[in-house]
Amino acid sequence: MDKLHTHNRKRSEQLYGEALEHIVGGVNSPSRSFKAVGGGAPVFMSRGQGAYFWDTDGNRYIDYLAAYGPIILGHAHPHVTEAICRAAQTGTLYGTPTELEIHFARMLKEAIPSLDKVRFVNSGTEAVMTTIRVARAFTGRSKIIKFAGCYHGHSDLVLVAAGSGPSTLGIPDSAGIPVSIAHEVITVPFNDPAALQEALNRWGSDVAAVMIEPIVGNFGMVMPQPGYLQELCAAARRNGSLVIYDEVITGFRFHYGAAQTFAGLAEQEAGEASKLYREIEPDLTALGKIIGGGLPIGAYGGRKEVMEQVAPLGPAYQAGTMAGNPASIAAGIACLEALREPGLYDRMDRMAARLAGGLGESAAHYGIPLTVNRIKGAFSTHFCQHPVTNYDEAQDTDGEQFARFFRLMLDRGICLAPSKYEAWFLTSAHTDQDIDLTLDAARDAFREMNE
Ligand code: PLP
Repeated sequence: MDKLHTHNRKRSEQLYGEALEHIVGGVNSPSRSFKAVGGGAPVFMSRGQGAYFWDTDGNRYIDYLAAYGPIILGHAHPHVTEAICRAAQTGTLYGTPTELEIHFARMLKEAIPSLDKVRFVNSGTEAVMTTIRVARAFTGRSKIIKFAGCYHGHSDLVLVAAGSGPSTLGIPDSAGIPVSIAHEVITVPFNDPAALQEALNRWGSDVAAVMIEPIVGNFGMVMPQPGYLQELCAAARRNGSLVIYDEVITGFRFHYGAAQTFAGLAEQEAGEASKLYREIEPDLTALGKIIGGGLPIGAYGGRKEVMEQVAPLGPAYQAGTMAGNPASIAAGIACLEALREPGLYDRMDRMAARLAGGLGESAAHYGIPLTVNRIKGAFSTHFCQHPVTNYDEAQDTDGEQFARFFRLMLDRGICLAPSKYEAWFLTSAHTDQDIDLTLDAARDAFREMNE
């Protein structure tokens, strides 16, 4: 079996030089830069097919970035590609409603029953931002509670970090966000029911919503501890606050549905997770990533009476020139259709189990502390000895070792996200041979790290 070794990335380096002259920071999203893994030129990709993409120097990589989640079917999946081409040939934007939007909304509602009504937007950021506006409109309250380390897009309200404790107000995490806005946000640690209750006690009648990723995907993959989401939902409701699930990553990631719908599956299909999600339904859900089949999209939805706050029915305004555009909707429908293939999620689950297990064994063999958090076809690798159940524990891991591992893997043709907090995503296009090649590369990398 070939070993994957990349040769040089000269063209990427040249292009990065050019990009720096024209595009701020050389990238169109900061997470694409290599700042968190020691800097230098990111790899410029020019082509993708299935589980692979090729850089501008012609090097092939096995892709575990999956574009930060959306590319669950691999690159250029024929069914999605055909749908996009068809949409392009019949006009990409009308500025009117279309029949396809209804079809897609129905598909989402069937898969995620908490969605009585849906609205399509253009990104996860927009979806989350709007759920907050709608929750505020519905409750007449202004503050939201979020969880440390959870990323919910880049709108002002959610780019806020923890204050000094659960009862203090947030501080802006980015320049350009007024402190007054950050004061509308309370950040508490994930998996800590007492901290949430303390925040609710302190700010109770001001809290419009508790916003959470029901399974965290942004400081690694982290499960809620058993009973945590039940307690969270109950505490929020006692307080008259809405519950918002940000399922931008988790929507259609682990099964055909959202994290919240594991409960609807047969026990053996959902595994342990099913126990956690029984009787848990949010008031509002934000979606994005996978549901666009690789084109820009977001969606939010939820309880009918809450969603009826949204214009033109209600007083909460939200709009979009590109919202529900035929190309994104067609790609999303095609992606969801392909995801219905029997056995597809199980295959990703099995491959991820072998890969995650093999990484753990290999790291242990070379004396490298590694915690692997896996949920179905997605997992995160944390260079530490302790379990990772919250953001503090995810921060307390060895970023330099991750950076070394990341670069050694890249040089062996394995592409991970350039951050110790990001997940590895399996796609339906990965094969057992890809897993073998990845494990070979990881063994080499760990051996070198140990030298
Ligand atoms: N919510 C979560 C959980 C995310 O991971 C992200 C993006 O990574 C977003 C929201 C924002 O989505 P987008 O990048 O499409 O604006």
